[in-house]
Amino acid sequence: MAIEKFDITLKNRYEIAPNVMHFSFVRSDQQVFPYIPGQFITILLHDEEQNLKRRSYSVATIGGEAKEIEIVASYVNGGIASERLFHLKNGDTLHAMGPAGRLILPEEDSVKRYILVGTGTGIAPYRSMLPVIEEKAHSGIEFVILQGVQYRNHLLYTQDFLGAQGGSTNIKFYAHLSRQNSDDLQSHERNSYVQHGFKDLELNPETDCIYLCGNPKMIDDSFMMLTEMGFATSSIKREKYISSN
Ligand SMILES: Cc1cc2nc3c(=O)[nH]c(=O)nc-3n(C[C@H](O)[C@H](O)[C@H](O)COP(=O)(O)OP(=O)(O)OC[C@H]3O[C@@H](n4cnc5c(N)ncnc54)[C@H](O)[C@@H]3O)c2cc1C
Repeated sequence: MAIEKFDITLKNRYEIAPNVMHFSFVRSDQQVFPYIPGQFITILLHDEEQNLKRRSYSVATIGGEAKEIEIVASYVNGGIASERLFHLKNGDTLHAMGPAGRLILPEEDSVKRYILVGTGTGIAPYRSMLPVIEEKAHSGIEFVILQGVQYRNHLLYTQDFLGAQGGSTNIKFYAHLSRQNSDDLQSHERNSYVQHGFKDLELNPETDCIYLCGNPKMIDDSFMMLTEMGFATSSIKREKYISSN
């Protein structure tokens, strides 16, 4: 089925972390936006030579069918989408298409535990998955959510993840703060790169499934570590945050 194109209107935005903005849009035609948690929306822009540019953003909205389309974007200096997004005012519109993407949780589970890893804004798809995660955790599936940033004030949606952890012993959340002073860590925080958290998890290539989202280098490093541990590529799902053209 063709992916639908529509306009979106900005309702609200706020700086959620240094150089990172949370945006809340609605479809300009007021239709709901059905998506599978983990999918992304693509914004359509034109550069100065009128070439079409596509920039994708994971849907961060908690739920699966919503009027609000929430995304979270980090500012890239001089980037075409960054400049457009970070200068939007409430009521401004953008052309968009979607949803799309395969970084989604399956309806039927053949795995016992999901390890969901995100760096920076790469945590967004797991926020949208929270109701599904909670439902699956209730039926005995385990989840470990690892968020990687440099400093504590760069963390995104921590309270949402800690809230989910508080509601089920099958959900664990760890924040990996690669540059935070290690004398100053809370119980859910670690002072290391996110992929260094794997060694504490007693990973099992037969029963675990790993999702990797965000920084391409983190994804490549993790993929290499995991395949060396014996993970099949079908047990590692990846979404690299790169510009398409
Ligand atoms: C499926 C998918 C989902 C995505 N979801 C998100 C999301 O939820 N949030 C989000 O913030 N981004 C997300 N991205 C990345 C996003 O689509 C853009 O690539 C990003 O916002 C930069 O676009 P831009 O037009 O501002 O910069 P561009 O015009 O693409 O880049 C300008 C310059 O900056 C460099 N550059 C590009 N990205 C970075 C970077 N991250 N750090 C440093 N330099 C860079 C480029 O090489 C170029 O030289 C996603 C990408 C994909 C493929």
